[in-house]
Amino acid sequence: MIPPGMCYLLDAPGLQIVTPVNSWEMKMSDSIIADFRSDTITRPTPEMRRAMAEAEVADDGREGDPTARRLEQSAAALTGHEAALFCTSGTMGNLVAFMAHLRPGEEVIAERDSHFLRFEAGGATAVAGAVPRTLPGHRGRMDLEELAREIQAGSRHRPRTALIVAENTHNLAGGAVLDVEYMRQLWAVAADHGIPVHLDGARVCNAAVALGAPVKDLTSGCASVMVDLSKGLCAPYGSLLCGGEEFIARARHMRQRVGGGVRQIGHMAACGLIALEQMVDRLAEDHRNARLLAEGLHEKRPEVVDLDQVQTNMVLLDTGPLGVTAAALCERLASRGVLALPMESHLVRFVTHRDVTAEQVAAAVPVILGVL
Ligand SMILES: *Cc1c(COP(=O)(O)O)cnc(C)c1O
Repeated sequence: MIPPGMCYLLDAPGLQIVTPVNSWEMKMSDSIIADFRSDTITRPTPEMRRAMAEAEVADDGREGDPTARRLEQSAAALTGHEAALFCTSGTMGNLVAFMAHLRPGEEVIAERDSHFLRFEAGGATAVAGAVPRTLPGHRGRMDLEELAREIQAGSRHRPRTALIVAENTHNLAGGAVLDVEYMRQLWAVAADHGIPVHLDGARVCNAAVALGAPVKDLTSGCASVMVDLSKGLCAPYGSLLCGGEEFIARARHMRQRVGGGVRQIGHMAACGLIALEQMVDRLAEDHRNARLLAEGLHEKRPEVVDLDQVQTNMVLLDTGPLGVTAAALCERLASRGVLALPMESHLVRFVTHRDVTAEQVAAAVPVILGVL
């Protein structure tokens, strides 16, 4: 028997999960010049640690946690939605959204390199029963005419398209931004067919800061949006799934189903409030540092970095012209104290975040160029 989701999980008895080079356990130099692996490595700020200790809390499975409620209201206002649900992680926020939008066997259309397809352990299929149909993207964008053609009503044979997913910023496209105009066009196509849009907005605050636009201009027309607190916003935990009252009530039920109802969750929500209220504008600093890094590398080695790709806090380095794999380059960089992640066989990702300063970037550039 094939267990649900096996196409992603490979966890049937007798099959082994093959783990590629674990770059998180790479041999590192003793002195780290800069850690560009991910904005998830950011630790809670001193204000967050204090807020955690002092948070007003109660059992969120009973009378409700007051700090979690405040966080949910704040996220709903930020994204232009009626309600929000505090989830354990971005992955859980996406999963719960799929469970609330779809019945098993219904179709989700998404860009081919979407985070939920590549990095969320197959949950959309294994748990929510989604049938993914993927379209190639350009800088994270699906072609909207192609998207309109792919939507199907469902029949005796065909699964019904029940959801469209977009990702902003797009992780594997190197933090690419979907702008307000594109989002409006996407909403129009979806509305024409009566299909909801879920936005994986793990880094939608980065997109808003890069565009100089309010977050809600990128999110209000979506049926749901997930905003992650534990990336550049520096909280240790959590995401918010935002949407209409009815949708969020259904999502709350689904969160319970996957064990995501947490009791005195206000301790974590207190960090989330600081993330949303105090950490969003700071993302501009990460974007400036990514630019600094990209320009430093491009100046000497224009063939490996495309400056147009660098819109937010990520820089992609193409190792193709160098004739080495991304994993090999990352190992060499690590031995000189610069940490980055191999994302694809020939793509290295550098992410800037609160724990990388402009001085560290300036120090890292000659080291990276030396290795190149
Ligand atoms: C990180 C990320 C997620 C998952 O978030 P976690 O909090 O790590 O579970 C989802 N989508 C995108 C685009 C991400 O970058």
